[in-house]
Amino acid sequence: MTEKISTDILVVGAGPAGSTAAEYAALHGADVLLIERKKEIGIPFACGEFLPSIEEVKKIFPEAPDIGTLFDFPKELVSLETHKLRIYSPKLRVYEFEFDGFTTYRDRFDRYLASKAAKAGAKVLTGCAFISIDRNKVMTNQCEIEAKLVIGADGPRSRVAASLGLPRNKELYPAMTAQAIGDFEPVVEMYFGNIAPGGYAWILPKRGGANIGVGISPKFARKTVGKYFEDFVKWKQLNAGRPTGKYVPMGGPLHPNYNDKGFIVGDAAGHVMAVNGGGIPIALICGRIAGKVAASCVRSGESMARYGEACRKQVEKPLRTALRTKTLADFCWGSQRRLELAMRILGKRRMANIIRCKRLFP
Ligand SMILES: Cc1cc2nc3c(=O)[nH]c(=O)nc-3n(C[C@H](O)[C@H](O)[C@H](O)COP(=O)(O)OP(=O)(O)OC[C@H]3O[C@@H](n4cnc5c(N)ncnc54)[C@H](O)[C@@H]3O)c2cc1C
Repeated sequence: MTEKISTDILVVGAGPAGSTAAEYAALHGADVLLIERKKEIGIPFACGEFLPSIEEVKKIFPEAPDIGTLFDFPKELVSLETHKLRIYSPKLRVYEFEFDGFTTYRDRFDRYLASKAAKAGAKVLTGCAFISIDRNKVMTNQCEIEAKLVIGADGPRSRVAASLGLPRNKELYPAMTAQAIGDFEPVVEMYFGNIAPGGYAWILPKRGGANIGVGISPKFARKTVGKYFEDFVKWKQLNAGRPTGKYVPMGGPLHPNYNDKGFIVGDAAGHVMAVNGGGIPIALICGRIAGKVAASCVRSGESMARYGEACRKQVEKPLRTALRTKTLADFCWGSQRRLELAMRILGKRRMANIIRCKRLFP
């Protein structure tokens, strides 16, 4: 017979969004169950593993409160601090500016966040995959779960979103990444042009090597992402390990991101900066909102709409600005010359603003 479990809040997916939501819901007094389909949290992963510093996150999301607490990670999670970002145009013209951040170890990072959720009181169940929901009954491959509220933090192709009747990401960009061994300058590098149409190729230095990868737009690509990745590795003569791939949702934040049964958060809700594909900071900020609001909903009957409102206030302006910039940039992708010229016109100061999700012309 199928085991039956009852909980206030069920969080699906132990990535940054889900673990943070579970942690904050538990901290705010709710009974929380966090389920993850992988047997081991954090493995395998497909990520560039780059995070902006606390100061940079504050600049990008000035409306999000208390970033210091949320982004206070132990030193062991920092692989390498970087202070510069270098952008290469199709003709390899260089635009370099200051940008503080660090690379992490994504497997350890995800495990750390899940351990914080467990420490706060959330129960964590691995190897447990969400299948469907019928009213407040959730079917998984292991058990049946009765939950007052479900938080879908199950990534870009969210099954929870579909089951809850919420929108799903339509614009999915394939991306591929691997670890490379070698000596790398402590500078974040982004390569634009035919090397990665509609996206970019990256070298993100880590201790003893780098995270390398390619993300492309299906609209502009002429080959598979695997082939672009292969060509980048060959061109840069990188000593790369086995690549892994995943989708990045690039269509902007989804609406509505809640209904009377639950919320969607992180990649599941399109919480990604369309100008650089980064999603971890927003997963943490909106995961915190989801957890706090979910706890108030089940404990004191707060309106579910609070979640949508708080996300709008804390992250949506920069995310919408980034989306508009990406839409404009899409006009340049058809021609290398046009892209080269656009980058020259923008120059490094405006490019630095774009990367920080600021408006192109303030
Ligand atoms: C190649 C690549 C490079 C990237 N590089 C960066 C970067 O350098 N910096 C950055 O900020 N962002 C980066 N991103 C984006 C970033 O990885 C995501 O935005 C971030 O992981 C979103 O977190 P999340 O918790 O919403 O989703 P995920 O991290 O995708 O977590 C979702 C979790 O849900 C689980 N799950 C899925 N379905 C189910 C189910 N049915 N039942 C139970 N569990 C389920 C998954 O196994 C997973 O653990 C990159 C993305 C890609 C693809």
